[in-house]
Amino acid sequence: MIKGKVVVGILPTYNLKNEDNDPYQDKASFVRMYEQRIIEAGAIPIGLLNNNIENYFDICDAYVWPGGNSIQKDFYKVFEDAIKNHKPFLGICLGMQAMATYFNILEDNKKNKELSFYETYEANKESKPYLVRLEEEKISNHSHYVTKDEEKIENAKHKVKIEKGTIMDDIYKTDTINVPSMHTYIVARVPKSLTISSRTEDGTIESVEYTKNGACMLGVQYHPELIKDYKIFNWLVERSLDKYKILVNKEYKIPNNLYFKIVTYDSKCPSIDKRESLMEESVYYAFLELKKAMKEKGYEIDLQSGYRYTIDQEELFNRIVEEKGIEHTNMFVAKPRHSEHETGLAIDVCACIDGKWNFESDEDLNILFSYLHSIISDYGFILRYPKGKEDITGYGYEPWHLRYVGSKEFAKEIMDNNLTLEEASNSYTLRYSKK
Ligand SMILES: [Zn+2]
Repeated sequence: MIKGKVVVGILPTYNLKNEDNDPYQDKASFVRMYEQRIIEAGAIPIGLLNNNIENYFDICDAYVWPGGNSIQKDFYKVFEDAIKNHKPFLGICLGMQAMATYFNILEDNKKNKELSFYETYEANKESKPYLVRLEEEKISNHSHYVTKDEEKIENAKHKVKIEKGTIMDDIYKTDTINVPSMHTYIVARVPKSLTISSRTEDGTIESVEYTKNGACMLGVQYHPELIKDYKIFNWLVERSLDKYKILVNKEYKIPNNLYFKIVTYDSKCPSIDKRESLMEESVYYAFLELKKAMKEKGYEIDLQSGYRYTIDQEELFNRIVEEKGIEHTNMFVAKPRHSEHETGLAIDVCACIDGKWNFESDEDLNILFSYLHSIISDYGFILRYPKGKEDITGYGYEPWHLRYVGSKEFAKEIMDNNLTLEEASNSYTLRYSKK
């Protein structure tokens, strides 16, 4: 995430080979259209250079593996990162073929674990090929030569039928699409772990998906970038923001396998506990913007409490139990793994009035807080524990506790309709964990 914007890493899949003895051969190149579509979807594209691909993983929220003619060994590491950290992945043409090949190799490897990933590939590629050339009679329907010429793109289109209940169905919300095709190889076999979500009329596989354990990966054989297919690129960007749509309360604990990057924040608030002067990275940038907007109105706010280590939440909980008993503690303090502060998405705001920093909701702060609440959704924040919703949230009114939810639209929906996250979960898919 860079300044609150989704960063999409693109693999360089074009290899411009020169003479064999040319010291400058192996120039990896990017195709412009992909980058353009990602910008149009509101995200930042970055190119992953193939000599040190892992260096980029930390800043990427999603990946695009485009069509092309070249796969470098290290490219496959992108799959590991996408799966482990639930980053959305979109493979196009070569990218979809690579995705099917990757999961096939993992399955083949189960039969002979002695072999490495690449040895497994080498051992199987002859007897059970991963990709095959299109049969002659099918070629005319798939293998087009496309230029920027709109007519050529139009001629390269064929119909694709989409299966219900798949990512493709979710993106297009229709059962048939007409899309341009440009390939001579097809996926020869599909591993059990992948779902085939669409085919052409001649049966050719046009998309595969991997959604196990919270992963979110889609590979398509056609070329959405040629037709300004905003739906598919918007999906990629929106899914990157979905990780912020989680529900944590007294009933639901923080879902497992969440990937959040926590960064240090420098607060002016004198009462801040340095151990809690931390936030999730996109929250950090959103909060800086919010602070600036408040300043423009003459209000000074800063961080009182941000990310909290689970061990600290546990310590806090046990201490209050000892001091005030379990009943009181349950009313006011979250159990470990049940506090939003343990995600890095919640911040307690303190305010400075006439040179005095204050955090509790006293009279002087009312005007400041009501202005704050009127603008937070513009920065992706909601008021998590509103007045009059104590029965639903399980907490008293906390004007200082803001929660980042990822998208402004979602935050506005909640704030404009005076909802809680609990109520929003009736109409939005939120991630939560009971166990
Ligand atoms: Zn709080």
